[in-house]
Amino acid sequence: MSFTLHGVPVTNGIAIGRALRIAPSAMDVKHYLVPAGSEKDEEKRLLNAFEVVRVELKAIRAGLPDAAPEEMAAFLDVHAMILADPTLTEKPLELIQHRRYNAEWALATQLEDLLEQFAEIEDEYLRERATDIRQVVERVMKVLHHGDDHQTLNSFYKSISDTDRLNEVIVVAHDIAPPDMMRFKDIALGGFITDLGGRTSHTAIVARSLDIPAAVGVRRASELIHQDDWLIIDGDRGIVIVDPSPLILEEYRHLQSQRKLEKKKLLRLKHTPTVTMDGVAVDLMANVEMPDDAGLALDSGAVGIGLFRSEFLFMNRKGKMPDEDEQFGAYRQTVEAMKGLPVTIRTIDIGADKPLDVDEDGRSAYLSPLGLRAIRWSLSEPDMFLIQIRAILRASIFGQMKILIPMLAHAQEIDQTLALIETAKKQLEDQGVLFDPNIKVGAMIEIPAAALALPLFIKRLDFLSIGTNDLIQYTLAIDRADNAVAHLYDPMHPAVLRLIAGVIRDAKAVNMPVSVCGEMAGESSMTRVLLGMGLTDFSLHFNQLLTVKKEVLRADVGSLKVAVDQLLSAIEPDELQSALNKINSL
Ligand code: PEP
Ligand code: MG
Repeated sequence: MSFTLHGVPVTNGIAIGRALRIAPSAMDVKHYLVPAGSEKDEEKRLLNAFEVVRVELKAIRAGLPDAAPEEMAAFLDVHAMILADPTLTEKPLELIQHRRYNAEWALATQLEDLLEQFAEIEDEYLRERATDIRQVVERVMKVLHHGDDHQTLNSFYKSISDTDRLNEVIVVAHDIAPPDMMRFKDIALGGFITDLGGRTSHTAIVARSLDIPAAVGVRRASELIHQDDWLIIDGDRGIVIVDPSPLILEEYRHLQSQRKLEKKKLLRLKHTPTVTMDGVAVDLMANVEMPDDAGLALDSGAVGIGLFRSEFLFMNRKGKMPDEDEQFGAYRQTVEAMKGLPVTIRTIDIGADKPLDVDEDGRSAYLSPLGLRAIRWSLSEPDMFLIQIRAILRASIFGQMKILIPMLAHAQEIDQTLALIETAKKQLEDQGVLFDPNIKVGAMIEIPAAALALPLFIKRLDFLSIGTNDLIQYTLAIDRADNAVAHLYDPMHPAVLRLIAGVIRDAKAVNMPVSVCGEMAGESSMTRVLLGMGLTDFSLHFNQLLTVKKEVLRADVGSLKVAVDQLLSAIEPDELQSALNKINSL
């Protein structure tokens, strides 16, 4: 039966494919595809586990003391009967043979189906037999787990990359932590869907950089979608259509090929200078997570890297941080790949939904977005911070480098940070190591307090970069990763617009370079608004660069400024809407 689920859009585009569920809700088990040719061995592994349990149950039954209650024996008999029933093995064996599922995954899939069927039985006694089935399966699972070689999510990612027609695989999961999402980088998946997450959660941001259609915050998707269900992700609207009718499928296939064509057409703009109709030159820079992204950024026509999220170098390291040489290597690789264009390295910004590590099941410790995040964490770990600064400084002689500090709010934080940068410079000088002594240091403006106390920043720093993701989160008190409040995450809230416009205006008034590097910079629906506020420096995902460039080329900043002034004086939703309509009609 076809049905539609609604979530939060992450990337534009359409994905059509079959569901691949990372973890069935009924049981947390390992998922991987067994290597081609070893299906028979896996079948044997499953049947052997059943046999072990059969012998085990028989021994327990035989060893029951005479005084044991009669129900005990009856209970063991029921379990032995369930175990012997071919329903429990036939389907899993098929899944192993035809889909190369590992035994645990195949068995868990069948268990889920059976549990669903049982849930619909009216007779209460029979319905409750579902518990017996679950217990029997758990026994078999235990045997399968015993002595295993700790296959983890890693093996899942590795094995999935061997699958044919990967672009027709749509991963469905309760949640995917950003470090896990990173591992999809080398796998060209069709798309993914998660129960949790918001538009600017870091999982969504990484997905956007991978340019695969995705919907997050699709509540209960992992429960309602079954393995192998046909799915359509409408990434523009955050809609998931499960088991679509042939007509709908046809329509979306058509849309999908249209999209591909449009993308191809956009490529023609790659070498066109980014100048508005009235001659305002605009710099479109790239946001990246890893050194390898630099080449892609350059290919997309980016004129530099406006935000290197260095924390991604620190993830998935099982507590072992990259040392100074390793970091230096990564920064040097990035700046060299950009061939003389500027590269802005943001110092580590962990915390909130960016944990350093996740456990084997993809879970991570929750870190409050109001807690020891970003520069607060760095200042509490000065030795670690100095290592990072020294690594950036050493790489600074291989190109044009800048340092960007996340989450600053207080004057003393800025002063402390600058003092540590001076210490790092002194340490390198003492060792005779070369670096750019005039390296520029800037601040992310992403806390309302910073936006409202801008002179503190202008006086002490060389440039500013507005982090709209956090600025919106903290202005509206909306956890950006929490899908329960995703509908309140509103970039068009008058308070948000006024803060952003104020920062751009005040910085420009004193010739302080200012850019926007939050997701807003990559949303083509906001390009005109930002241009009208006077913004000329954007940093965005390279995948979005040409779409934004297209908007810039069509814009007339002179008339946008007048229309955006009206938008900024609007406060009621209907006033805002009509001001926005006007901006979009220009
Ligand atoms: C932001 O907050 O807008 C930003 C660019 O930083 P991050 O998304 O990494 O928090
Ligand atoms: Mg931020």
